[in-house]
Amino acid sequence: MTLQVLFFGLIAALAELLGGCLIYFKRSWPQRAQEMLLALGAGFILALVFIKLIPASIETLGETAALYCMIGFATIHFFEHTIVGHLHFGEETHADVMVSKAASISAFSGLFVHAFFDGFAISVGLHFDFLLGILIFLAVLLHKIPEGLTIGSIVLTSGYSRRGVLLSSGGLALATMLGACSVLIFGQVSEGLIGMGFAFSAGVAMYVGASDLIPEINKSKDRIPPLVVFLGMLLFYVSDRALEAALR
Ligand SMILES: [Zn+2]
Ligand SMILES: [Zn+2]
Repeated sequence: MTLQVLFFGLIAALAELLGGCLIYFKRSWPQRAQEMLLALGAGFILALVFIKLIPASIETLGETAALYCMIGFATIHFFEHTIVGHLHFGEETHADVMVSKAASISAFSGLFVHAFFDGFAISVGLHFDFLLGILIFLAVLLHKIPEGLTIGSIVLTSGYSRRGVLLSSGGLALATMLGACSVLIFGQVSEGLIGMGFAFSAGVAMYVGASDLIPEINKSKDRIPPLVVFLGMLLFYVSDRALEAALR
């Protein structure tokens, strides 16, 4: 199990680094392609939260699951938008706000915590239930390239060189791996604690879908990306069925 978790964590981390490399080689990418990827990721992760993660959390912990979901949601809100002034997914286009290197370091630290819990969710998910863990991995993977792209463009806009792009996306990749490494202690903790970690991850995933991704899609000039969110939900359904048939 440990090797599997580290393997899936590594793939997610590499996708993050790939997003950074895209910005390293070319400053801006077609807005439309970014929106589509964010929309697919949003639909997928939200369907996962509502159809699988919340019911499974309640089944394990009973009513107290709601509390851990909320703590997960609140933790990401705290690190991404309470102590950080300006952070959103997608290309950073607000040069008037990203005026200092300090602003980008602050955004990086918010995303660092987010990326850590991406890895953590994969790890706790695979421990909780292998099939659910794979679905969480797919949900993370879908938004990892846009995440790497996000930090890369923040860093460039705030005045760092292209080397900073690689360092920052590499830093987030490392955070993802650190989160995945939490598997190393899961062997020693109780089932109850794993259940709490799982419910916490459900809240984190809800925040990523509903607050990081959806608002970016809704800013789109036309209604195609919001429509693609439903395609993401459908993609979740098809992936779930396919995995169910293959693994169970
Ligand atoms: Zn901005
Ligand atoms: Zn993420």
